[in-house]
Amino acid sequence: MLNDAQGVLIEAVGSPAALATFTARLRSEAPRAARVDEVRILEEGAAAESAPPFHIRQSTSGGSITTLISPDLAICDDCLRELFDPHDPRHGYPYINCTHCGPRYSIIESLPYDRPHTTMAPWPLCERCAEEYGDPANRRFHAQPVACARCGPGYHLLDAEGAPLEAQDAIVEAARRLSDGAIVAVKGIGGYHLTCDARNAASVAALRLRKMRKEKPFALMAADLDSARKALAVTPAEAEALQSPARPIVLLAKGPCDLPEALAPGNADLGLMLPYAPLHHLLFAAGAPDLLVMTSANRASEPIAYRDEEALRVLSGLADAFLVGERPIARRVDDSVAALLDGRLTLLRRARGFAPESVVDDPRFDAGPPILALGAGMKNAITLAVAGRAFVSQHLGDLDRVEARLAFEETVRDLCAMYGVDPGRAQVVADLHPDYGSSRFARALGGPVQQVQHHRAHVASVLAERRAWTTVVVGIAFDGAGLGDDGTVWGGEAFAGSLVGGLERVAHLRPAPLPGGDAAARRPEQAAVGFLSEQPADVLWHDLLTPGMVRRAGLLVETGVRTIQTTSVGRLFDTAAALLGFHRTMTFEGQAAMFLEALAHDDGTAATCEEGYPLPFAQGLWDHRPLLAELVADVRRGIEPRTCARRFHAGIANGVAHGAARLAEDRHAHVVVLSGGVWQNRWLHAATVAGLRSLGLEAWWNHKVPPGDGGVSLGQAALAAATRHEPEEMDHVPWHPL
Ligand SMILES: [Zn+2]
Ligand SMILES: [Zn+2]
Repeated sequence: MLNDAQGVLIEAVGSPAALATFTARLRSEAPRAARVDEVRILEEGAAAESAPPFHIRQSTSGGSITTLISPDLAICDDCLRELFDPHDPRHGYPYINCTHCGPRYSIIESLPYDRPHTTMAPWPLCERCAEEYGDPANRRFHAQPVACARCGPGYHLLDAEGAPLEAQDAIVEAARRLSDGAIVAVKGIGGYHLTCDARNAASVAALRLRKMRKEKPFALMAADLDSARKALAVTPAEAEALQSPARPIVLLAKGPCDLPEALAPGNADLGLMLPYAPLHHLLFAAGAPDLLVMTSANRASEPIAYRDEEALRVLSGLADAFLVGERPIARRVDDSVAALLDGRLTLLRRARGFAPESVVDDPRFDAGPPILALGAGMKNAITLAVAGRAFVSQHLGDLDRVEARLAFEETVRDLCAMYGVDPGRAQVVADLHPDYGSSRFARALGGPVQQVQHHRAHVASVLAERRAWTTVVVGIAFDGAGLGDDGTVWGGEAFAGSLVGGLERVAHLRPAPLPGGDAAARRPEQAAVGFLSEQPADVLWHDLLTPGMVRRAGLLVETGVRTIQTTSVGRLFDTAAALLGFHRTMTFEGQAAMFLEALAHDDGTAATCEEGYPLPFAQGLWDHRPLLAELVADVRRGIEPRTCARRFHAGIANGVAHGAARLAEDRHAHVVVLSGGVWQNRWLHAATVAGLRSLGLEAWWNHKVPPGDGGVSLGQAALAAATRHEPEEMDHVPWHPL
C-alpha cells in the first residue's frame, strides 16, 4: 500500500470473491474522515502462491498532485471518550486526535501530507505514540498530528501583558477566570477566539467596547446540545448541522430568549456552535460557563489572528488573559457559518471544516489549463479548478483591508502550490469591477484576465454546484452592489439562459438615483432619499426621514452631483429600513436588511407572500414605486412596524415570483435560481420559494458556497470552464485583457 500525492495505491491478494468484497468495503466502511471518490482497478493478475506480508511504503513526492487535502474535523467520539478516561494515556490532553478527527488543513505546510510537512514537525513521537502511529490496526495509524502529554505540545496561560501566569492547570485556571467574567483569548484550530461568559451582560458589553464592535453579532459556543437547547430553540435539522464533523456556526432564531440583547442587537438570529477542539471540551468540563461568546479574535473586520506574536500584539488591551497552545497554526481558517433555508443547509461563510475541499467534481474542470478565479472584493474566497475539481478556499474577508489582502495573496500562493499550479500559467478570472483588490491582483499576474460580471457569477455559482451546465434557467441575483455591463451599479437582476449558452440580462429593478454613490451603502436614509425621489409629488415622505439628510441628499439627486444610477435590491431594503426607523449609519454590511428581517419575524411567524405591497412587473422592470408608496402610506397611518416589514417582504417575494414566472414562460424554463447576498434573508427566501412553487416552478439556491460574495469565485470558474467549451456562444462574458 502506498499513499502519495496522486492518491492511495493498494496491492491486494486474494480470491476473486474476497477481492470483490474488499473493493466494496473500501467504500461502505470508509472511516469518518475519508471520502472515497473513485476506486479504480489498475491491474489484475493471477493470485500468488502465498500472500506477501502487509506493509506500507514510504510516500513519494512529485507527480501531478491530485490528492485531496482534508479540512479540519471536530474531535471524534472515540477520542472524546479517551479524553475523559482517567486511565487513558491521553486523559485531559488538549491535542488528542486520530485518523478520524483533528486538524489537517490548518497544520499542513506542504505536501505530501506527512508529519515533517506539518506544524507538528518539532515534536518527535514518544515510544508509545510511535508504536500506535506505526500499527496498521491502530486508530492512530499514520495520524500525522498524533501526540500525547509526554511528547507533544501543550497549553499555557499568559496574563494581559503576555507574561506567564503561575497555574497548576492552565485550562482549569482559564475556565475559572471565564466564570469570574474575564475575557480570555483562546487559541483554537484555525486562529484565536475572544471568549467570555455569554450570560454575563457586563462581560459582553466590555468585549464590545474593547473590540470596537458596536453591533455586529457575536458567535456563541454551547457546552453541548442540551445547553444550546436551554438557551435557544433548535430544530432537528439544525441539531444535525450543529453536530456534523465540520461543526459550523448555525444561525438559530432568537425568538423570546433571556440572553443579553448585546450578543446580537436588533438581529433575528444568534449564531451558535458546539465544541470541536478537545480544548473546548476540557474548558467546559473544567467549569467554564456552559454558554460562551466565541468570536474571532481580531479588531473590526480584520481576518482572524492566528500567529502567537500577532495575537498578543493585536489583542493587547482586548483580552484579560491568553490561553496559548504551542502547536503553530499554518494558516488562518475562520469558523464556518451555516443556516437552514427551507430545511436545507446553506453555507453563509465557508471555512473551517469545509475548506479546502473540492465543491464540484466535473470533467469540464479538466479540459484545459487550470482556472484561477479570484472572486469579488468583499467577503472574498478564491476558487482553483484543476484536474476535474473546483477547490474553494476558506473565507478571506474584505479586500479593502490590508490584513485580508495579505491573507488573499497568501492563499492564492498556498492553494496553487498545493496543487502544483503556476498562477502565471492558469486561466485567470476576475470580476468586471477593475478596482477590487482581487481584480488588481489578477492584472498584476501579467497574463490575460477573463472578466465575469458579478451577478452572472452569483447565478452561475448555483448552477455549478449542481453541475447544471446546459439547464436553461431564470436566475434572480439580488445583492448590495456589483458593477454592471453598462457601467451602472447593479443589484436587482434577472438573467435567462445557461452556463454553456450564456446568461442574458432579461429584467431588473427599476433604476433609482443613489446620492453619494458607494458612501450611501452605509447610510440607509441616503439610499432612501434616492429611491423616494422617484415617487410622485403627492406621496409625502420627506418628514419621515432626518431633515438634514433629506436636504443634503436631495440636493445631490437634483443636481446629479456624486449621484449614480442603481438597480440594487440591497438599497431598496435600506430604504424600507429607513422608513421604519433605522436612521443611523450602519456599523456592518447588511445591518439595515437584518433589522428589517428581525422586525418581520420577531415572533417566529411563518413567512408568506400574501398581503404584500404591490411590486408590479412589466417590460422587464420591477417597479418599486407602488411598493414604497404603500409603505409610506402605512407608516403615516401608524401601522405597526412589524406588519409593515412583513408586507414589504411579502411584496418583494410575490413580485419576484410572478416576474420570474413570466420570464420562465418566455424561455420554457421551469427552474428559477436565487443567488446574491439578499437571499440570506430567511424570511424573504422562504416567502419567495413558496411563491415560486405555487406557480409550478422549481427553486434552486446555494448550498455548498455562500449566496453572498463568498460564492462568486465558483461562479466565475464555472463560466470560464463553460466558455472554453462553447466560446462562440458566450458573447456576454467578455474575454479580453484588461
Ligand atoms: Zn479521533
Ligand atoms: Zn507521545
